[in-house]
Amino acid sequence: MHQLQKQYQDQIVELAESSVRLAELGYVTSHGGNLSYRVAEDVVLITPTKVAKRKVTFDDVCIIDMSGQVLYTKEGRKPTGETPFHLRIFQLRPDLTGLVHAHPPVMTGFAIANTDLLTKAFLPEPIIEVGPMVTVEYAEPLSDELAQAFDDKLPYANAFLMKNHGAIVTSPDGVERALEFFEMMEAAAKSILVAKLLGGAEEIAKDDVGNLERTMKTRGLPMPGAPGKVNGLLELFFK
Ligand SMILES: [Zn+2]
Repeated sequence: MHQLQKQYQDQIVELAESSVRLAELGYVTSHGGNLSYRVAEDVVLITPTKVAKRKVTFDDVCIIDMSGQVLYTKEGRKPTGETPFHLRIFQLRPDLTGLVHAHPPVMTGFAIANTDLLTKAFLPEPIIEVGPMVTVEYAEPLSDELAQAFDDKLPYANAFLMKNHGAIVTSPDGVERALEFFEMMEAAAKSILVAKLLGGAEEIAKDDVGNLERTMKTRGLPMPGAPGKVNGLLELFFK
């Protein structure tokens, strides 16, 4: 075993298991989607290119530094072609450690419809845990333009709907937590869609979101976005 594999054994297991789970959830098809986990200031675990997420094993997980240089890969493996946006997001948001990108059917439908429904205050749990999911303009997959498309949104959100493409959800607490948040957002999108089909989706009242904001502050929970950038939920959900 490579020395870095030994050093970050638990986190590599976490990434490989999250990759398989992502596929089981049906959020990716073929070689689509990718996951990463920053385990030290200059060490990032990331899924390989051209391997189905359901087949990613411990040895398949690539280890790179923050400039994209390979520190370890199994023979024949290369980090995902979407490495640039993973690293860009980690560079601009040093507080984040876990990142999941996939093409879940319902949220991707929202991304094609170009709706801002996921920036609205419909459900308390996603509001507190993730915050608004903001839309990032379309750019070609694997391009530097796609990596830069996040720049102006990154200080104010932890989750991103990629227009005509898919979704990204991040976490300050590792990649498994990012995947749990991803599931939460896809479930929320389904519920919002059902509400729309049943005649309408009603937002939580502004006063009630203010109460959630107070609860978060009392419990010392971090606001979505970069530390210190966002003072409260009301400014995020009621602009
Ligand atoms: Zn994609």
